[in-house]
Amino acid sequence: MSDLRELYQEVILHHAKTPRNYGVLEGANRVADGHNPLCGDRLHLTLLTENGVVKDLRFGGDGCAISTASASIMTDSVKDKPIEEAQAMLASFHAMVSGEEVPENAVELSSKLEVFAGVREFPARVKCAMLAWRTLEAALSQPEGSTDPSSITTE
Ligand code: ZN
Repeated sequence: MSDLRELYQEVILHHAKTPRNYGVLEGANRVADGHNPLCGDRLHLTLLTENGVVKDLRFGGDGCAISTASASIMTDSVKDKPIEEAQAMLASFHAMVSGEEVPENAVELSSKLEVFAGVREFPARVKCAMLAWRTLEAALSQPEGSTDPSSITTE
């Protein structure tokens, strides 16, 4: 188990140091800002949806290793996926990191998302891991083409 934990830490640190999909997406049609005051993580998410599919997305901002790695892996995971599937992944991811009941629309998570399962043991870090997903949720709740970013703060 400790070897596995080390491996997970390596994956998280790698993504935190060299995040994927970092920046601002030109031509985005949905924008959201996320803030986790508990840790100080801030996230700016820009995404493009077309015909019910997340075509592309980028994230920016400043956060701890877990929130940055989570945003890096989240953006990779939902790219080219139907919005409905992205929302199901969000629900499954939340159940995994919080230990709460698995929702009806749960999907099997990829192994790169499963590296965050260990976060469950650190309740204060659950919000760090969830920030990218909560910000995605806020962006998807907006109408396409909205230029006002919707903002969320983790409770
Ligand atoms: Zn954090």
